[in-house]
Amino acid sequence: MKPFAYFRAESAEEAVDAFAGHERAQYLGGGTNLVDLMKLGVAAPDLLIDVSRLPLDGIEETPDGGLHIGATVRNSDLAAHPAVRTRYAALSQALLSGASGQLRNVATTGGNLLQRTRCTYFQDTSKPCNKRTPGTGCPARDGVHRDLAVLGHSEHCVATHPSDMAVALAALDATVHLSGPQGTRAVPVTGFHRLPGDRPDQDTVVRTGELITGVTLPPVLPGTQCGYRKARDRTSYAFALASVAAVLRVESGVVRDAALAFGGLAHVPWRGRAAEEVLRGAPATEETYARAADAELAAAEPLRDNGFKVPLARNLAISVLAELASRT
Ligand SMILES: Cc1cc2nc3c(=O)[nH]c(=O)nc-3n(C[C@H](O)[C@H](O)[C@H](O)COP(=O)(O)OP(=O)(O)OC[C@H]3O[C@@H](n4cnc5c(N)ncnc54)[C@H](O)[C@@H]3O)c2cc1C
Ligand code: SF4
Repeated sequence: MKPFAYFRAESAEEAVDAFAGHERAQYLGGGTNLVDLMKLGVAAPDLLIDVSRLPLDGIEETPDGGLHIGATVRNSDLAAHPAVRTRYAALSQALLSGASGQLRNVATTGGNLLQRTRCTYFQDTSKPCNKRTPGTGCPARDGVHRDLAVLGHSEHCVATHPSDMAVALAALDATVHLSGPQGTRAVPVTGFHRLPGDRPDQDTVVRTGELITGVTLPPVLPGTQCGYRKARDRTSYAFALASVAAVLRVESGVVRDAALAFGGLAHVPWRGRAAEEVLRGAPATEETYARAADAELAAAEPLRDNGFKVPLARNLAISVLAELASRT
C-alpha cells in the first residue's frame, strides 16, 4: 500500500475544503470498498478525508411526506428504520440482500452509491482495464464475463454496477444531494451513474471534490406497494446476477402506476422505462408483467456466456410484480 495522509473532517464544509488542491484525495466512508481497493493497488489516494463521522447520520421526514437520509447513515440503520421498512420496503429489502451484517453495520449511504464495479479484471492490477487505466483495453469482453452487463454496455467496458441499494433508489425516484467547491446541487439517482460509453473510468456524474451529503425519497401515494428481488449464486454474501426493484399501484385490477429498476444487468441501476409504459393502464395480470419485462429486455445484448441473465431478470420482474399486485 502506498503512503497516504489521513484527515477526519468534523463538518461537510471542512471535508470539501480539505479536498481542495489535492489531485488524488478521496473521501472515506465505512471503507468497506475503498480500503479493499487500496490494498489491491487499484486505488492510491494521497489523502483520505474521513467523512464517516460527519453529522449526516439522520433519517428525517421531509415536509412533503418524503424522507431525507443523511450520507453517513449506516446501511443497517437505514434498512431497519420503521419508515423505510413500511413505506420504502424495496429499499430495506435491497439493503438486507447485500453484503453481510458486519459490512452493513459500517457501510454508509454515500459510500454504497459510489462503490466500484466487482469486475475481476478491474480489481487485478496485472490486467489491462479501461476503467482503471483508460485506453488499455477491456479483457472482460472476451474473457470471463458471466457476471457482467447485458444492457447499455460499450466496446470499452461491459462492467455492472454492484449496488443493490442504488437499484431500489432508482425505482423509488430518489435524489442525491451533493456539496462541492462550486456549491450544492441535487441529481436524480437515475441520472447519477453513467453508462460506460467511451469513458468507463467515469462511473458517475460526481465532480472532483463533491461530497454526497444525503439522499431524499419522494412521498409514496396511498395504495402503493414496493419490493426487491435478487438472484445470486448463493443466498447470502453475493452480488446480484440480476435483481429487480418494483413500485406498483393497482386499483380495480388495473395498474395505475409502476416503476421498475434492474440490477446486475448494466453499468448503472437500469430504470425500466419501456416496461413502465406497458404496465401503466394495463390489467394487473402476469401476461402484462411478461409483456412489460420483454419490452425492457428487448434491448439486451448478452455477451458470450451471460445470456442466462435475460430470462432470469424477466422471471424476477414477473414474480415481484405479481407478488406486489397480490397485496392490493
Ligand atoms: C465481501 C463483500 C460483499 C459485498 N456484497 C454486496 C452486495 O451483495 N450488494 C451490495 O450492494 N454491496 C455489497 N458489498 C459492497 C458494500 O455495500 C460497499 O462496500 C459499501 O456499501 C460501501 O460503503 P462504504 O461507506 O464502506 O464506502 P467506502 O468504501 O468508504 O467508499 C466507497 C467510495 O465512495 C466514496 N465515498 C464514500 N463516502 C462518500 C461521500 N459521502 N461523498 C462522496 N464520496 C464518498 C469513497 O471515496 C469511495 O470512492 C459487498 C462488499 C464486500 C466487501
Ligand atoms: S468490463 Fe470494464 S471494468 Fe471490466 S475489464 Fe472491461 S473496462 Fe475494465
